Amino acid sequence: MLEADYIIVGAGTAGCVLANRLTACGRFTVLLLEAGPSDTRLQIQLPIGYGMSFFDPAVNWMYRTEPEPALQGRQGYWPRGKVLGGSSSINAMVHVRGQDHDFDTWAEAGDSGWRADHLKAYFARADQILSGADVSGQAHSLCKDFISAGEELGFAAEPDLSKVGADGVGYFRIAMRNGLRLSTARAYLRPAMKRQNLRVLTGAHATQIVMEGLHAKGVRFQQGSEMKSAFARGEVILAAGSINSPKLLQLSGIGPAGTLKKHGIDVVVDRPGIGQNLQDHLCIDHVYKSRLPTLNQQLGPWFGKVKVALRYALFRNGPLSLSVNQAGGFVRSRPGLDAPNMQLYFSPLSYTRTPPGVRPLMRPDTFPGFLLSAQPCRPTSRGYLEIASGDPAIPPKIVPNALATEFDIGEIIEGSCLLRQLAATGPLRNVIETELQPGGNVISDADLLADIRQRASTVFHPVSTCRMGQNEQVDVVDAGLRVYGVEGLRIVDASIFPSIPSGNTNAPTMMVAEKGADLILGKGVPS
Ligand SMILES: Cc1cc2nc3c(=O)[nH]c(=O)nc-3n(C[C@H](O)[C@H](O)[C@H](O)COP(=O)(O)OP(=O)(O)OC[C@H]3O[C@@H](n4cnc5c(N)ncnc54)[C@H](O)[C@@H]3O)c2cc1C
Repeated sequence: MLEADYIIVGAGTAGCVLANRLTACGRFTVLLLEAGPSDTRLQIQLPIGYGMSFFDPAVNWMYRTEPEPALQGRQGYWPRGKVLGGSSSINAMVHVRGQDHDFDTWAEAGDSGWRADHLKAYFARADQILSGADVSGQAHSLCKDFISAGEELGFAAEPDLSKVGADGVGYFRIAMRNGLRLSTARAYLRPAMKRQNLRVLTGAHATQIVMEGLHAKGVRFQQGSEMKSAFARGEVILAAGSINSPKLLQLSGIGPAGTLKKHGIDVVVDRPGIGQNLQDHLCIDHVYKSRLPTLNQQLGPWFGKVKVALRYALFRNGPLSLSVNQAGGFVRSRPGLDAPNMQLYFSPLSYTRTPPGVRPLMRPDTFPGFLLSAQPCRPTSRGYLEIASGDPAIPPKIVPNALATEFDIGEIIEGSCLLRQLAATGPLRNVIETELQPGGNVISDADLLADIRQRASTVFHPVSTCRMGQNEQVDVVDAGLRVYGVEGLRIVDASIFPSIPSGNTNAPTMMVAEKGADLILGKGVPS
C-alpha cells in the first residue's frame, strides 16, 4: 500500500517547490503524483523548445475554452504543462514578480502573514534557488530600439524588470541557467529526488480525493491502465494548478452542489466558490515588417539555424537559449496612475503565416518582422470553470469571460493605442517598414476594439479559481491554505491567488509555494 506523510498532487511550479521544502528536514515522507511524464526531453530543456511543447499533447493538457462572446465567439487555447515542472517546463520563462500593491490586498484575504513585506521574504527565498538570468547581453539588437522608444515616450529605463514594483522598460530576466530552461523541476525537484523520503510517480493521474466523512485521507489515481490509491498520514496537498485543482475537488464531491449533482457526483461539501473567480491576462499583439533583420533571419533559413545551433553547442548562448519575449516593461498607459497598469512585450520575431495549431518559433516569417504587445495588468472581468462530466478524463468547461467590463475594454484599447505610440517614436519609426497587424485601415477606437475582439488572446496566466479569502461562502481556502469544511486538505498553487498579480505568474506561484511549505511545517516568516 502506498502511504506517506504528505501526498502532493501535481509536480508543477508549486508542487516541485513543495516536494523540496517538505522533504528537506528528513522528518516527513512525501509522495508526489504527476499526471505527465518526466521532463528529460530536449524540447523542454532547450529554452526555445517551448514552441514545440506549445501544442504537444505528450506534455501539455491543451485546454480549449468555451466560445468567448466578447472575442467574436472564438475559443481560447489554454496550454498547461503536463510534465515534471508543470507549466514552468513549457512556459516562456519570463521571470517577474509584480507590483507592490498587487500583494497589498493579500493580507486582507488571508492574515497578516500574507502582508506584502512578508511575501517579499518568500520571493527572496525562492530567488536563492531560481532567479531570472540577465540576458541583456544576448538579446536581439532591436530590443535597444524598443527601449529607446519607451524612453522617448517618457518611460524610465528599468534595469530590473523582475523586481517587485518594476516601473519602466528594459530587458526581461529569463528562468534559464547555463543555456538550459530552469523549471522548478530542475531547480527544486531534481536535488530533492536524491532524498530517500521523497517518492515521485509520473504518469499518475489523480482522479479523486479519498474522503472519510469530511477528512481527506488519500488520493485515487490512474497509472497506465491501473487504478491505485495512496494514503496520507498527514495531509493531501493539491498543487494541480488553476484548472485541475478545482476540477479534482469537484470530481471528489467538493464544490458547488448544483454542478456536482448535475454530473451525478455525491456532494461531500457544498463549496460554491470552487472554480469561480477565474482571472487571466488578455494581450494584444501588433505585428510589424522590419527594415532590419530580426530573429526571423536567424531562426528561419537553414544557414541561420546552423549558425545559432553552433553558437549554442559551443557557448550555450544565443537565440536558442532565450525566450522570444526578450524586452518589455511595466508602464502607465495614461497619466495620473499610481502604478503601472500595462505590461509590454517586445519579441524580435514574427510568424504571421502560421496555420492554427502550430507555433513554429524555428519556422518564422521569411521577411524580417517583430511583435509589440500590450497586456493590461489588473483585469476586472471574472470567469469560472466547472467539470463537464463526472469522468476525470473529460476536460472541464472553461468560461474566461474576458472583456466583460467597460474598464477592461478601455484598458486594452489604451494598450493598443500605446503600441501605436511606441511604433511612432523615432527609434522604431526608423526600423518599421509596415504595420502588418492590425494594419493601416484600423484607425478609430472602435476599429481597434474590433481588432482586439478578432485577435487578442490569453498570455496563459489563469489564477484564483480556489481563491484564498475569509468568507467561506465564496472563498475556498483560509489563510493557512486549508480547504474550508474539509480536514487534512490544502491547496498550494496559482489557484489560491486572491487576485491576479500585474505580470507573469510563475514567480508569484513559487512564492506562494515557499510560503505554503512554511504553513504546512508550522514555520514563521523567514527573517
Ligand atoms: C505557454 C505558457 C507560457 C507561460 N509563460 C510564462 C512566463 O513567461 N512567465 C511566467 O511567469 N509565467 C508564465 N506562464 C504561467 C506560469 O507558468 C504558471 O502560472 C505557473 O506555472 C502555474 O503553476 P502551478 O503550480 O499553479 O501549475 P502548473 O505549473 O501548471 O502545475 C500543475 C501540475 O499538476 C499536474 N496535474 C494536474 N492535474 C493532475 C492530476 N489530476 N493528477 C496528477 N497531476 C496533475 C500537471 O500535469 C502539472 O504538472 C505561462 C504558462 C504557459 C502555459
